[in-house]
Amino acid sequence: MRLTASDIVSLYRPTPCSNRVVLRQRGEQEAEPSAFEQVLRRLGIQHEQEHLATLGAYVDLSGLTFDVRVQKTLEAITNRVAVIYQPAFQVSTTISGTIVEIVGMPDFLIFDGDGYVIRDSKMSRRIDKDNHPEILLQVGLYGWLFTIACGSRPKAIQVHSGTNEIIDVHYDGGTSALTMLTKILELKQLEQEQYEPVGWSKCGGCGFNERCWAQAEAASDVALIPDVDQSLAKALHEINVCKRKELLAQFNVASLSDFKRTVGTRKQKVGKKAERILLFADAMEKRQEKILTVPAIPPSPNYVMFDLEGMPPQWDELDRIYLWGMQVYGANPTDFMPAVAGFGENGDKQGWLDFLGKAEQIFQQYGDIRFVHWAAYEKAAIDRYIGRYGDVNGIAARVKANLLDLLPIARDSVVLPIPSFSLKVIEKYVGFKRTQSEYGGEWSMAVFIEATETSDQAKRQELMNEILKYNEEDLAATWAVFRWLKSKRPQTT
Ligand code: SF4
Repeated sequence: MRLTASDIVSLYRPTPCSNRVVLRQRGEQEAEPSAFEQVLRRLGIQHEQEHLATLGAYVDLSGLTFDVRVQKTLEAITNRVAVIYQPAFQVSTTISGTIVEIVGMPDFLIFDGDGYVIRDSKMSRRIDKDNHPEILLQVGLYGWLFTIACGSRPKAIQVHSGTNEIIDVHYDGGTSALTMLTKILELKQLEQEQYEPVGWSKCGGCGFNERCWAQAEAASDVALIPDVDQSLAKALHEINVCKRKELLAQFNVASLSDFKRTVGTRKQKVGKKAERILLFADAMEKRQEKILTVPAIPPSPNYVMFDLEGMPPQWDELDRIYLWGMQVYGANPTDFMPAVAGFGENGDKQGWLDFLGKAEQIFQQYGDIRFVHWAAYEKAAIDRYIGRYGDVNGIAARVKANLLDLLPIARDSVVLPIPSFSLKVIEKYVGFKRTQSEYGGEWSMAVFIEATETSDQAKRQELMNEILKYNEEDLAATWAVFRWLKSKRPQTT
């Protein structure tokens, strides 16, 4: 059995899931990497190459076959080569009675006076146990492989981070990494797939999404019910309550509310969520929505649909909103009013000021008008940007005072026969159709990165037009959901 440092990454990325290791071991079909993942990989290689260029002369082992690479690594270490790029280690050992080959390929070995430093280059900006335990385990494994292969410990193990810092990682002699490999070995040796609940965010970026989701739907798995979290789905399966029907047959609000599952190290009751869970299970079984109350949408002839496209801070010094999308819908609508961040040094600030200018125009024409958005992202972004660039005329504060988050209104008023309250799921449910075959937050980020990197102005404009179209359709989708929700009234019996 072969165990690799990549197995550790499989277990944790894109989201922690043991089933991914099992499915890969079995060679189950996995979707091709998305445009977003491909961009991430490309940027990762670029980041690594930029660091390599700062290290001086090096021996490059990357193009060799694996066995030759392992042999050349040991030779280069013996010869105290200053920098070894893409070395490889392979060690045979026994774990839980099974003979295994453990393999690892760090990015760099750097000779530092009296010993080698192992260094891996990562795009991640936060290298710690909370944000990236898999990176610490991975480099810990490299440390152990080096120690066994060379007969001495590495001088240090380090990560070159997304902020170009060199982070020293505590080396525990490989204990944590080997404990994790023991768990991975158990997973790889499983004869039957273990139950692993699906989850909307958990499975969204995973290559086995279609497969696991289709299986869960075919089984009417309790994990598909909104508000049934991973720990509850597992606890229910443990008592053989696997399907929605079984949940409805065996629990009422009181008994489900008292039901305990493990959260962290503690047992916790389901509590108040029980009622919603049972309502959703019932709606999904009957394929019928239920209106609980009149949606709390304040009346007005016009509303601004408001949606932002942003980048997390992996690629920039700052997390950046690159598109502030607005459009008034209702009795007196406007055209799409996007404010787009520029590509230059002050582009981020210019995008913010453009947004405030357009929001001011809207206030001048409509007075205090509601800015309708979905979930908490928009409010958090405005707060960040006020902190970053200020709010000279108080326009941002006025936008904030007029924000209307549709998500909690929808959650409080309707129970739907769908597995998530994501806007993309609800817009489909209400019959909204997009014109683009590819879209989504991650897709938009990938396209924006491409637009940032190209020096071909026509190409850049073409890419930005795709993002603008996507955002415009996001606003139209928000309006479609808004109108649908506004029309809902509880059924009279
Ligand atoms: S789709 Fe979900 S359950 Fe399946 S392997 Fe991926 S993360 Fe795990």
